[in-house]
Amino acid sequence: MSADSIEIDMMELADVGQPTKIAHEIHRQLRARFGSVPRRMPLSQLASAVGIEGIALFDGTSFEGTLVLQDGRAAIGIRKGMRSGRHNFTLAHEIGHFLIPTHRLQRQRFLCETVDMRRVRGGNFSERPEQERIEVEANEFAAALVVPMPEYGMERKALGSACDIAHVRQLAETFDVSQEVMAKIYVLNTDEKAAIITSKGGVVQRVIPQPGFPFLGLKKGALIPNAAVTRSFGLTTANDPISELREVASDIWLERSGNVSAIYEQVFVQEEGWAMTLLLVDEQEDDDEADDRNWNRRSSRYPA
Ligand SMILES: [Zn+2]
Repeated sequence: MSADSIEIDMMELADVGQPTKIAHEIHRQLRARFGSVPRRMPLSQLASAVGIEGIALFDGTSFEGTLVLQDGRAAIGIRKGMRSGRHNFTLAHEIGHFLIPTHRLQRQRFLCETVDMRRVRGGNFSERPEQERIEVEANEFAAALVVPMPEYGMERKALGSACDIAHVRQLAETFDVSQEVMAKIYVLNTDEKAAIITSKGGVVQRVIPQPGFPFLGLKKGALIPNAAVTRSFGLTTANDPISELREVASDIWLERSGNVSAIYEQVFVQEEGWAMTLLLVDEQEDDDEADDRNWNRRSSRYPA
């Protein structure tokens, strides 16, 4: 695909108001033209195809990204020095402010900070301040845009059915997004009951549970439990920074085990004290489906 080969039918986009649907309409148009959506979304070309005139990098800014509209013209600024996954998400977020019809009615200048890039839907959305709501919407657009789901499904399927924390980095590289963005997509789109916890130096940074995952009682700033594999493996990691998926005592992670029959933990130790922990739970069920799931699990990364 050459740089100027992307064309977007803006009339089709104009009929769509909902952020993720706008992203899906862009995917639809790209598929119609190229057969599939490129795994690495060509965001600069897309920005130009929708009428954004320039993208500039800025040193030492307080914002992560900015969109400026003036006399019908538009330009984007991005803070210099971000990793490519984060850069891409920020760029997609600013394209979102440009394409979501209600945002442009709100203002001419968007200054988006780190906190804005992490805003998610929650609480009583319609009662939250307008300024927060548009940031949530731009994030939803960006996440939907940078990882097209049919293409994600194909890449995920190629990695096998069992969950493995190594997949998150691999898929993040495939789609050129941050591991955090990918971790959320991974957890939400697996058949297993899963959660991912990111930590730095043994301190929880982000908890990403699948809806319905048993209550972990952990939030940002909490300590990773002492008896967790994440702690012990982090101290002993040799050549392979990824632990096996190990069954652990449920009270290490869960406040109440409820109907959880087993909990499994796997950790991926990364640079500068960062770690990504995958938790999977089995719950007591009446049918015999649980047996199959256990079999799959044991045949995961390191056969037991
Ligand atoms: Zn924003």
